[in-house]
Amino acid sequence: MSVPIYLDYAATTPVDPRVAEKMAACLTLEGNFANPASRSHMPGWRAEQAVEQARKQVADALRADPREIVWTSGATESDNLALKGLAWARGKPGHIVTTAIEHKAVLDTCSWLESQGHSVTRLVPDEFGRIEAEKVAQAIRPETFVVSVMHANNEVGTLNDIEAIGRVCRSAGVPFHVDAAQSAGKLLLDTRQLPVDMISISAHKIYGPKGIGCLYVRREADLGLVPLMHGGGHERGMRSGTLPTHQIVGFGEAMALMEAEREEEIPRLMKLRDRLWSALAELPGVYLNGHPEARLPGHINFSAEGVESETLLLALRDLAISSGSACTSASVEPSHVLVAMGLPRERALGALRISLGRFTSTEQVERAGELIVHALGKLRGQAV
Ligand SMILES: *Cc1c(COP(=O)(O)O)cnc(C)c1O
Repeated sequence: MSVPIYLDYAATTPVDPRVAEKMAACLTLEGNFANPASRSHMPGWRAEQAVEQARKQVADALRADPREIVWTSGATESDNLALKGLAWARGKPGHIVTTAIEHKAVLDTCSWLESQGHSVTRLVPDEFGRIEAEKVAQAIRPETFVVSVMHANNEVGTLNDIEAIGRVCRSAGVPFHVDAAQSAGKLLLDTRQLPVDMISISAHKIYGPKGIGCLYVRREADLGLVPLMHGGGHERGMRSGTLPTHQIVGFGEAMALMEAEREEEIPRLMKLRDRLWSALAELPGVYLNGHPEARLPGHINFSAEGVESETLLLALRDLAISSGSACTSASVEPSHVLVAMGLPRERALGALRISLGRFTSTEQVERAGELIVHALGKLRGQAV
């Protein structure tokens, strides 16, 4: 069987070979394997240096201070730390403003906090998947202790105006958390310009390893986050546990590469994406889901009228792409994001996500376009 063309970079990315090489050098006796917290010998000190260099690489990409970076196991943990950390710091029931289109890492954390006595407002986006700053302003109450709105949506790729939403939070004096797992590194997030207090980032969405990420925590904001992990007091007490040098070095290198290549990569991905979309858009009854302009450069989410995504996926086994729906044991449920955007159930059930990345070639995009056009023609031919 042939290996499918991988067009699911929004789900995860392979590790860039340049990153893998740096990681491998942190594993064995000959390498930089020591505990970065061991200050009594040279190997420990060298490991600490490597961790601090990576911290600077990630901080630089965010135009932040290295002391504002807290290593975590990924964006899921970062989201948990941001929301539970603030809720526990508050110490009494309060109110959270978030959105109906967040990743489960935010949605499920908010639901759990709700079960612990907090109340939650889940804002509904417009038809393009955007959250209006005005709606955030209206939702904030005196007891609101955090606003959490994602930057780029992982399903439709729509970008929120986090600058405008952040201004609303600043003027209300409420901390603002942004899940930027889909946008960090791909787009510039300048914390000197953006009124954002916490940012969740994951390495495996930017050609780094799985199992490492960070939470950016603005120092000036003095949030007093309560940690999820107690122990040796690592990471300024915000996340105890021995630091995984190889993972952190991989994350730092991955971020530095994103930073170095971003200006060339954005137009390249947009060109490939537009090329693929123009092939699909010629077909009757094919709709783009999400915002036509304010979206990630390599991202397409579309629905084909009269064809369910699960059926189309079966016909597209030569492509590794993703459907927007979630299979529960009983049935196929449409994506919560597309439902919140107000898409008709049928169109939501027909949604497919294609996400291009660093290793996507023009030939792959052309082949993908041909395969989809062919599969749709065949499936629709059978239907009549
Ligand atoms: C992938 C992703 C996450 C989860 O990140 P992990 O590092 O896999 O825990 C959270 N939020 C968004 C928007 C994501 O795309």
